[in-house]
Amino acid sequence: MESKRLVKARGDFADRNPQSRRHYDEARKYLPGGHTRTVLTHAPFPLTFESGRASTLTDVDGHTYVDMLGDYTAGLLGHGDPRVLDAVAAALRVNASVGGIHPAETRLARLMCERFEIDRVRFTNSGSEANLMAITTALQATGREKVMVFHGGYHGGLLYFASGTAPWNAPYDFVVAPFNDASRASKLIDEHADSLAAVVMEPMLGSGGCIPAQADFASSVFERARTVGAVVVADEVMTSRHGTRGMFPLLGLEPDIVTFGKYIGGGFSFGAFGGRADLLDQYDTSPEAGRTKVVAHAGTFNNNIASMTAGCVVLGEVFGAENATAHTSRGDEFRKSVAAVLERSGVPACVSGFGSMMSLHALSTPPRDAHDVAKRDAQLQELLFLGLLERGVYTAARGMMNLSLTVTDDQLAQVLEALADTLVSLRE
Ligand code: PMP
Repeated sequence: MESKRLVKARGDFADRNPQSRRHYDEARKYLPGGHTRTVLTHAPFPLTFESGRASTLTDVDGHTYVDMLGDYTAGLLGHGDPRVLDAVAAALRVNASVGGIHPAETRLARLMCERFEIDRVRFTNSGSEANLMAITTALQATGREKVMVFHGGYHGGLLYFASGTAPWNAPYDFVVAPFNDASRASKLIDEHADSLAAVVMEPMLGSGGCIPAQADFASSVFERARTVGAVVVADEVMTSRHGTRGMFPLLGLEPDIVTFGKYIGGGFSFGAFGGRADLLDQYDTSPEAGRTKVVAHAGTFNNNIASMTAGCVVLGEVFGAENATAHTSRGDEFRKSVAAVLERSGVPACVSGFGSMMSLHALSTPPRDAHDVAKRDAQLQELLFLGLLERGVYTAARGMMNLSLTVTDDQLAQVLEALADTLVSLRE
């Protein structure tokens, strides 16, 4: 049953946001639940935003928030980056939809191959599609049928493993292994040694609560997978922002295929999968290659000009390797400050994460896997979220926070103050 405090917090939220309520009621007539992204819903109803600027968001009731969500990592650049907007507007004026090869596509492919040290890359419309294609690449290359994923992982709308495999997942033959448990995962790999095509892993469970993979766990899974001839697929859709070339390389690990998405599109839809030439060259239809067996990969908007142009600006101008490293350190520092505020409060809550991605948890110690996340105090978690909103800080309802490049030191101080104040109110 909901506590009086939670009922009051929801009531106060509703009273403060009559216009968002009106938008929600209207949306529900046409969109089941009033949305097209399940993650955006929460009680009593989600806010409707009217505008954004750098690291602030303004809702339809006129409240302005520090945007600490950064659209679940897609909003790394903040709102309205003129470099991206000007380049995309200029490109679209020349050609909106070409139905052919475009120079920006090759430019972005080169930027990605050089930056992430992969041989080849192919573009998709989303991270979900990138992962579906990465799995397909492994299945086709190995002629095997099983795909290992991890409990608590998320690789897309049809690749959802929050608590085992979801009934609506794409119909692959999944083996769900425990996260951060090297011996059980390795044992499962051995059990499926002859049929395992791929092992798909996030270096940090992102949607699953910003839980980093322990280095020895990840390295033993990589090694075991390679021993049995499975392809190692790294889902860096969220985490490629860390360090110079993503998070697995920071652990000293080199996957066979890497998937990308989110911020690289600079606000436009984006996905990509890339990696070893021998795997990716299954898609090589060129007469020069003379392959008798090729795999087809279609998609009208795979190379759309807006996303390709934006990606070139993001990786080529805005977020070079040096900026990425600095942003990772800035996130680490901020997370330490969040942890200190939580610790001082005496409220049983903690923070987990890596670099500029983190999550608040209504737990006394940081979770190691999704089973720990499931033990969170749901009411305290919701009160933290609503308390931060009341104080002008927008995070994910589930606790996720991601630093954008535009968030200022003053805004981060404001977030810490809002958190401390929320915690005081919860202790009373
Ligand atoms: N992989 C990971 C690790 C993700 O976090 C997400 C999205 N949250 C996806 C894949 C799917 O990407 P998209 O939403 O672009 O389909």
